[in-house]
Formats: sequence, C-alpha cells, structure tokens
Amino acid sequence: MTAKLFVLAGPTAVGKGTVAAAMREQHPEIFLSVSATTRRPRPGEVDGVHYHFVSADEFDRMVAEGQMLEWAVVHGVNRYGTPRGPVEAALAAGRPALLEIDLQGARQVRESMPEAVFVFLKPPSWEELVRRLVGRGTEDEEERERRLTTAREELAAEAEFDVTIVNREVHAAVEDLVALMVDHH
Ligand code: 5GP
Repeated sequence: MTAKLFVLAGPTAVGKGTVAAAMREQHPEIFLSVSATTRRPRPGEVDGVHYHFVSADEFDRMVAEGQMLEWAVVHGVNRYGTPRGPVEAALAAGRPALLEIDLQGARQVRESMPEAVFVFLKPPSWEELVRRLVGRGTEDEEERERRLTTAREELAAEAEFDVTIVNREVHAAVEDLVALMVDHH
C-alpha cells in the first residue's frame, strides 16, 4: 500500500524546522524530505542533511527537468523546492513522508497531491512568534521585518489546512504530529 504524504507548514519562526529536526532524531522510520535551496548554509547546517545547497543554475535545471514536486521563492529572496524522486520512492516503499515547506509550496502540493494531509503549525500567540524570531538571532532587522510581514499573512491561512497543531513545546508538537501520522496509517 502506498503510504501517506504529510505537509507541515506554518509561519516563519513557529518552529517548523525544530519540529522536523526532532522528528528526524526520534522517528527515523518517517521519511523527512530534504529540500533544495539557493540560500547559503548557516553555521552548522550540513549539505544533504538540512538542505541540498544548490546554485541558481542547478535549481533552474531541477525545475526545468520536472524534478520539483513544488518550489517557491520564500521571503522574497531565495528559492526552495522539494525534490520529487525521494518522496515518491519513500511513499512507494510504504514509508510515511513529511514535507516541511512554506505556505506557497503547501498550496502547490494541494493541487498536485490533494490526498496529502495538510498540517498547520501555529504559535501559541503572536507575541511568542516575535520572541522566537528575535531570539534565534539568525536574521538582521530588515530580514526580520520581511519575515514578520509574511508571517501575518500566513497565520490567516490556517483554515486551508486539515489539522492545526499549536507549537507550545517542541516535544509535545512532535508527539501530536506522530500521533496524527500513525492515525492515518
Ligand atoms: P530557512 O531559510 O529558515 O531554512 O527556511 C525559510 C522557509 O523556507 C521556511 O518557511 C521553510 O518552511 C521554507 N522551505 C524550506 N524548504 C522548502 C521547500 O522545499 N519548499 C518550500 N516551498 N518552502 C520551503
């Protein structure tokens, strides 16, 4: 039986990456898609683990060859996309698969794979979201403002999703997500 695809989206700094990383550690049986991106690696990020860090030309080629399940320009600068092959192979092998992508990408997957389960990760409050974004300190002021503008729009999209998980605490959010994935299995 083909396994289910799950799409995890939500505003910037809500903790999608942290939830996905904890998932990778605690539930290796779940296939976690590694996106391709044109952005530069941050300190500690490993090519092929956190992202496939590719040039703009390489990204163009992947899109032109139909290798991307979805892709988008995120936060107005860099491109991010989900390589199709590994996701399809995992599903065909009966492994549930998880994509951690932005809202634009989630909408594209909704078009091409409507049978997927769409999960919205939400912060406990707007103030907490701002606190997390400032606290992680990976963006400068201008980039933070840009991300917060996008986040306001993204929070309004909750109703498009099948399920909402509130990310109060990472471990609990991972367990909620795993319970959902097991339920659907
Ligand atoms: P970051 O640069 O902080 O790693 O990620 C920025 C944003 O890109 C996050 O909102 C993340 O969900 C999104 N993102 C990461 N990979 C993909 C992808 O493959 N496709 C799309 N559409 N968005 C992605």
